[in-house]
Amino acid sequence: MKERTFWHGFLVVVLLNASIYIGCSGGLNVFSKADDIALGQQVKAEIAKHPQEYPISRDESLRSYVQGIANRILTSPVIENKDFRYEVTIINDDQTVNAFTLPGGPIYVYTGLIKFVDNEATLAGVIGHEITHADHRHSTEQMTKAYGVSTLTSIVLGNNAGTLAQVAASIAGNLAMLRFSRNDERDADATSFHALNSIPGRPWYPAAIRYFMEKSLAKTGKTSNLERLFLTHPPSEERLAAIDKLAREAGLPAPTESALNSTGYVRYKATGR
Ligand SMILES: [Zn+2]
Repeated sequence: MKERTFWHGFLVVVLLNASIYIGCSGGLNVFSKADDIALGQQVKAEIAKHPQEYPISRDESLRSYVQGIANRILTSPVIENKDFRYEVTIINDDQTVNAFTLPGGPIYVYTGLIKFVDNEATLAGVIGHEITHADHRHSTEQMTKAYGVSTLTSIVLGNNAGTLAQVAASIAGNLAMLRFSRNDERDADATSFHALNSIPGRPWYPAAIRYFMEKSLAKTGKTSNLERLFLTHPPSEERLAAIDKLAREAGLPAPTESALNSTGYVRYKATGR
């Protein structure tokens, strides 16, 4: 019940302003870009009210370090919605290896993820993946698919409270886990690669997200820390192979230490309060 209330509040706000929108990726989306931003900010405010579920880290140096990675990725011409609010929040939970993004930009990174990855380039690859989910508006596209244009627009036009409650309850089950389609995952991986590959000065090996996938796959079934990751962005051999293919096609040489930055990253693996 608690979750239902949690998601119900923001849905009302967003649906009042919903309009039909065909996303740039071709998916139908009844939400406007402004709705995505409003929705993300509303959910962000709700998250801040639930410190038990989302213990926000007060380590500002860690937060600004990860924000700096996101900001650098945003300098890539591949990222389309530059006006989205890609604000990083760190969740102080070492037991969860995951990250998630809200519509319109807010990015949440668990300390468990920061400790799990072995170098900065890999973290950048994951952040690029998360930025893409917001930039390509996957969440609101999935909501449109799940509930249908007619349902969402009838709620907007008719203010059908009963249907709204139903939709809100279902969204609590779906969006609360921010589950994406396999196509969304493929798109986020490839776009992360292209974004990192096109950052001026190319600070990181663009295919480093492969190390995250490789390690997650190796640890499958051996730790419960990966459960949420497998619910929301399930790693697979197919995703790993696709990233390696992109690296081959781009003719990337094997990464140097400076393109991975594992030595500089060590101190961040030790933080997280
Ligand atoms: Zn994903």
